[in-house]
Amino acid sequence: MKKKLIAGNWKMNGSLTANDALVRALVTGGAGKGCLVAVCVPAPYLAQVQSLTAGTGIDLGAQDVSQHEVGAFTGEASSAMLRDFGVRYCLVGHSERRQYHGETDAAVAAKAQRALAAGITPVVCVGETLAEREAGLTEEVVKRQLAAVIHTNGHCISEIVVAYEPVWAIGTGKTASTEQAQQVHAVLRTQLRAATPHADKMHILYGGSMNAANAAQLLSQADIDGGLVGGAALKPADFLAIIAAAQ
Ligand code: PEP
Repeated sequence: MKKKLIAGNWKMNGSLTANDALVRALVTGGAGKGCLVAVCVPAPYLAQVQSLTAGTGIDLGAQDVSQHEVGAFTGEASSAMLRDFGVRYCLVGHSERRQYHGETDAAVAAKAQRALAAGITPVVCVGETLAEREAGLTEEVVKRQLAAVIHTNGHCISEIVVAYEPVWAIGTGKTASTEQAQQVHAVLRTQLRAATPHADKMHILYGGSMNAANAAQLLSQADIDGGLVGGAALKPADFLAIIAAAQ
């Protein structure tokens, strides 16, 4: 059976001291020994967390990657640079990047392509805003966002991870109900099945205020293969409880 994947998104949080304590607590708590576990850390801490996670079974993730290969792109980090630090996963198209940095579906698709070319698994984030949900556009929005990545990445598409993150549930304490989440995951699975014979082996994660209390129920759904966890990933006890719910 496919192991579930629990990925923490630290966003722009952390310090050398705090990261050290957090990762050590996760290792002591057995993270990385059962289900798949990753931490997506701010770029300046990749080297630190690479060394803290070495040999632990916890994989290292980044939060963004440049859509360009190399050159005059001040402030960006390329997929080859991430690979130099042993990065295994990279978030692409997180709603905060789409919202605050104007990332388009085409840019997200190009980022996924760069990651794949470097041997990094892109975690492609899709999700609707509250206004889009209320207008009945949820399926249309997530299918459009995923279609761009499928179109650009062709036969490599089975190598991606998809994260369904309703924008209205991120950092708000509002979680999609298990039925709402499963319904969208099923739509995404059907879309992946049309693109690759390997769709059932792929991970579709749920993200949006996943916590110790709601994880088990969300993770029990047929098409929810793990979680992308923001706030709760910064609290070792909470993150460990979510990991425990996934094994
Ligand atoms: C996220 O940032 O991907 C996320 C899901 O955040 P939170 O868990 O805090 O809602």
